[in-house]
Amino acid sequence: MTYVVTENCIKCKFMDCVEVCPVDCFYVGENFLVIHPDECIDCGVCEPECPAEAILPDSDDKATAWLEINRNYAQSWPNITRKGEPPADAEEWKDKPDKAALLSPEPGTP
Ligand code: SF4
Ligand code: SF4
Repeated sequence: MTYVVTENCIKCKFMDCVEVCPVDCFYVGENFLVIHPDECIDCGVCEPECPAEAILPDSDDKATAWLEINRNYAQSWPNITRKGEPPADAEEWKDKPDKAALLSPEPGTP
């Protein structure tokens, strides 16, 4: 089992999650983060830290569609272990629905 970053993170990217992960298994894209499913030890510490409620266990139905997205980008995006500066408009995007089409495939800067 693993935890999965889902749609709510897109364009929010608050990064509170990365600071608490004991195994540093977050990877950063231009406007999204992912968890490497083979590195996550399923501790659940990151889930309550996310202000956007974007992190879900893979047993949650809402996580299913995002698991492969996490796996794929975790192999090409850089690892991130320190909280950076969130986007200036992160709060505005926090509760917006239907953000999936806005997911950028570009890597981010850790
Ligand atoms: S805390 Fe939540 S919104 Fe912020 S980067 Fe992590 S998963 Fe994305
Ligand atoms: S569940 Fe634990 S190991 Fe997995 S990403 Fe969250 S903090 Fe890291």
